[in-house]
Amino acid sequence: MKSIKIVISILILLQSNYLLAESCEQTIESNDMLQFNLKEMAISSNCSKLTVILKHTGQLPVNIMGHNWVLTDTNDFMAVAQAGGAAGPAAGYLPEGDSRVIAASSMIGGGETTSVTFSTSGLAASGDYTFFCSFPGHYAIMKGSLKIID
Ligand code: ZN
Repeated sequence: MKSIKIVISILILLQSNYLLAESCEQTIESNDMLQFNLKEMAISSNCSKLTVILKHTGQLPVNIMGHNWVLTDTNDFMAVAQAGGAAGPAAGYLPEGDSRVIAASSMIGGGETTSVTFSTSGLAASGDYTFFCSFPGHYAIMKGSLKIID
């Protein structure tokens, strides 16, 4: 009986991953506790564009608890995150015109929602990508991986 339950949970899990991967529009939430609600995002290689909707479910203002959604190659993540912190609030804590930034939303505060749509043509199926918040200090916790699934 227990094994049947496990099989059913695995099937539900597989199905939800499949649905997630098939969606070319995905929503991720952030909060006042320095958290994204997802550690992993997966997109289908069939998506020519991806739209990421970022919701900030907290209450703190953008200058205190600002969040954005930035995507880079995992190899570039640390350097871009650190350069972002140095770029300051007027630049949205992102190095200006940095080609290592694959996509980035605007920085938002509690109660706000933003989105970014970008072409996936630069993403390789075998690639290793990291999404994070570039507000100073947040990237240590607010990060996750993005994968492309066939
Ligand atoms: Zn943040």
